[in-house]
Amino acid sequence: MKRKIRMNFLLSIMCLLLSFTAGEFIAIAENGALDEMREKMLEEQIVARGITDKTVLDAMSSVKRHLFVPENLINSAYSDCPLPIGYGQTISQPYIVAYMTEQIQPKDQTRVLEIGTGCGYQAAVLGKIVKDVYSVEILKPLADSARERLKKLGYDNVHVKYGDGYKGWEEYAPFDAIVITAAPPEVPEELIDQLKIGGKMIVPVGSFHQELCLIEKTPEGVNKKTLLPVRFVPMVHSKQDGEEPNPDTTP
Ligand code: SAH
Repeated sequence: MKRKIRMNFLLSIMCLLLSFTAGEFIAIAENGALDEMREKMLEEQIVARGITDKTVLDAMSSVKRHLFVPENLINSAYSDCPLPIGYGQTISQPYIVAYMTEQIQPKDQTRVLEIGTGCGYQAAVLGKIVKDVYSVEILKPLADSARERLKKLGYDNVHVKYGDGYKGWEEYAPFDAIVITAAPPEVPEELIDQLKIGGKMIVPVGSFHQELCLIEKTPEGVNKKTLLPVRFVPMVHSKQDGEEPNPDTTP
């Protein structure tokens, strides 16, 4: 009797193994290796450099960065550097994403405006923590592909709009926090108007020489703190002043 049970058990294991194709085995092995790389990134680049907010660490650990980079760069997805995402743009270094996220002190009820969706990675990290993310991207192909990617991956609380970030996203303002991931030459006043009193904005400011700044809006005015030197792509204006790049603003 016991032997029969053992035989049945072995047979079911064999059936299970046979039901996987070689491709599936490779995919499982690759995913395991990428998961390991992500955990290593978390320990060596994020925890080791002083990020302590548990919600930020959990988000950095759960968002699969390799699903946001071009296919030929998947093996570099967890490297300690920015990577090209096409159209002359980049996905920020993982540490900078974690650092900027921690600085705005995100909570589960926070509503965030992000300027510069890019591939959608920073928006996804924020989306894991906060209530809603409203992200604006000026390049249509990037806005469209990020929206599609985020939808496919189930980030239902991340909304992407194709438009000029200097105009923010009036319809959903004011926001508890604003994260700007392209560098304007100066802090954009128009966006401070879309920030709640008590809200925080993190923004890389400058042209060649840039500093990451934390802005806090208080009833008395705006406080600005300079945090660290950084290198971001420039925050550009739409071609014709006053022109909305596209009427399609479906969140
Ligand atoms: N947060 C992104 C990285 C963004 S790179 C990520 O996680 O992938 C900066 C992005 O800002 C680029 O995609 C660029 O096209 C966009 N950008 C530049 N100027 C902009 C503007 N005025 N409004 C909206 N997006 C802008």
